[in-house]
Amino acid sequence: MKYAIYGISLIFFSLIILPSIIVFGFNSHKTSSTPASEVKLIDGGKLVKLDNLDNTDLYHTVNVFITNQNKIQKMDLEEYVKGVVAAEMPAEFEMEALKAQAVAARTYALSKEIALGGKGCELHPGADVCTDPEHCQAWQSEKELRDKWGENFDKYYAKISQAVEDTKGLVLVYENALIVPAYHAISGGKTENAEEVWQNKIPYLRSVSSSGEDVASKYKTTVVVSKEEFISKIKQKEPSVKLNATNILSQIKDVERTQAGHVKSLKIGNVTFSGKDIKEIFNLNSTNFSFDGQKDNIVITVIGYGHGVGMSQYGANAMAKEGKKFDEILKHYYTGVEIIKIEDLLKVQH
Ligand SMILES: [Zn+2]
Repeated sequence: MKYAIYGISLIFFSLIILPSIIVFGFNSHKTSSTPASEVKLIDGGKLVKLDNLDNTDLYHTVNVFITNQNKIQKMDLEEYVKGVVAAEMPAEFEMEALKAQAVAARTYALSKEIALGGKGCELHPGADVCTDPEHCQAWQSEKELRDKWGENFDKYYAKISQAVEDTKGLVLVYENALIVPAYHAISGGKTENAEEVWQNKIPYLRSVSSSGEDVASKYKTTVVVSKEEFISKIKQKEPSVKLNATNILSQIKDVERTQAGHVKSLKIGNVTFSGKDIKEIFNLNSTNFSFDGQKDNIVITVIGYGHGVGMSQYGANAMAKEGKKFDEILKHYYTGVEIIKIEDLLKVQH
């Protein structure tokens, strides 16, 4: 299972998309069109003119920058979503979890679509999204999936296709605008409020419970470093830190956590670090960590995988196992959203 792509697919959400949401400005240029034809379809997006609702190209295709081929390819939206679900979630997951992922993946792509007023992929001008899981969202071609799944290809591809087809055209909206649906692998039992991770408050990204994730093999992980390595890595990041090799643990204090348990900040020696700093320094799976001592080593115990905001993929699978449907899963993780057909959103707005 490709843990590396879970959770990190939306890391850049925090670095690029969210700041752009903060600073977004309505497209102020006025055209000769009547105001009624200018609508905002995307949370934080630009006003867009919609004169021709029959131009289905607008929302049935997506311009994808395929990172490992270094080219932009125009794809059918639903076919693209199949490649995202297949890349972002294990095919063994429950059907209702795969369907929830399909709706989130479709919404994410449309929320970036330039033709709908989105910002596109900021790294690749002209593309709506890229296939780099560390920037937009992961996507795999049929060939890559054949290589990954081997003899299970037909079975898994049929399953993913069904999840996408059963939710065809469905998107997540909040107050009649497409949301930017963050998701991650494992929250650690409770998801995060967006503002505790990315500063700005987003009404549909609120902290909710997320049970049943502990079946994931990476629910709890540990990283062990020698005391010397610990000090040297901390000093690499912050050379001015004063840290005594004896009793390091007593020099770690003022640990401030989010309500979901992730570390916001902490003091090591005389320097304050963010949870994200420590996550990067020691390559941890999340910022929900704690330190322990063990002879000459420091043991870092980590709970969860990813940023913890929005839908937890393992939590979604746990809900599906309990019999919850994809819409119930999505409404649990995205507060106050509705699930509608993209065509209906366009009609409502027009
Ligand atoms: Zn991108």
